[in-house]
Amino acid sequence: MPELPEVECVLRGLEKALAGERIAEVVVLRTQSIAHPSAKQFAKLVPGHMFSEFVRRGKYLLMHFDDGSGMACHLRMSGCLVVKTKKEAKDKHLRVLFKMTSGKELHFEDMRVFGRLWYVKQGSSFAELIPALTKMGPEPLTDLSSKYLQEKFSGRRQAIKTALLDQALIAGIGNIYADEVLFLSGIHPQTPAANINAKRLQRLVENIQHVLNQAIIAGGSSIRDYKDSEGINGNYQNEALVYGRNGEACHKCGRLIKRVKLGGRSSHFCPRCQTGV
Ligand SMILES: [Zn+2]
Repeated sequence: MPELPEVECVLRGLEKALAGERIAEVVVLRTQSIAHPSAKQFAKLVPGHMFSEFVRRGKYLLMHFDDGSGMACHLRMSGCLVVKTKKEAKDKHLRVLFKMTSGKELHFEDMRVFGRLWYVKQGSSFAELIPALTKMGPEPLTDLSSKYLQEKFSGRRQAIKTALLDQALIAGIGNIYADEVLFLSGIHPQTPAANINAKRLQRLVENIQHVLNQAIIAGGSSIRDYKDSEGINGNYQNEALVYGRNGEACHKCGRLIKRVKLGGRSSHFCPRCQTGV
C-alpha cells in the first residue's frame, strides 16, 4: 500500500510532467473510481482545466487547476497515476484516462478499485468534500515540532508506537516507518507516550523527518517499478534496520531483534538499544 513517501514521489513526478498541461478529454472506464461528483459529471467538468499546483496532504494528492477548481486522489491499496504518451499500451487496470491537449496522457490504473478521484468546483474546498482532511494531524516533514508532541503526549498512557500511527496526531506515518523511527530514537515501542522527555521528543521528530526523507529518496529511484512489485516500500524494507528483521541480529549491538503485537500491528525493536517501558 502506498505510504506518505510513495505518495510524495508520485506527486513530484506528476508536478514535473503535468504542471501547465491542459486536459482535453476525460474517459471514465470504471464509474466506481469517481467519488464526486457522478462519473458522468466528472468526465464533463474536468476537461478544459489546466494543472497548476500539486500538494500532498497525508496520503491525499491535491491537484489544483488554474481557475481555482481542482481534483483530489487517494490511491488506497493499488491505485497508480502514470503519465504516458498516447502511443503507449494501455494497462488492463486502466480506470480513468485523462488526455492532455499536448498529446500526453494521465492514466489512473487501479487493480483493486479502492482508489478514488474527486472533482472540487471553483469556490469550494477539498476539505468540504473530504472530511478526513480536516481531522488530520500536522505534516511530519514540514509542520511537526517537539513542542506539539509534548502537548499532545502529556498525560497520554498509550504506547508511543500506537500514537505514532494515529493519523489525527501526525499525518501519514506507516507501520514500517514508525518501527524505524523508534529504533533510531532508542525508544521502546511500548513506552507510554507521556513518559518521553523533551530531549528525546526532539530526537524523535528529527528521526521521523530523516526516515521519511530517506524513503522518499529510495522511492524516487525506483518509482517505475512501483506498480508491478512491492516497489518503493519493498526497496525501503531491504534497508530497514528493525522492520521485518525478527530474530536477526541488531546492526548496532548484535542482540536479536524482537517482535511484539501492539494495537493489532507488528512492532519490531531491539531490546538492548530501545528503552523506556
Ligand atoms: Zn541493538
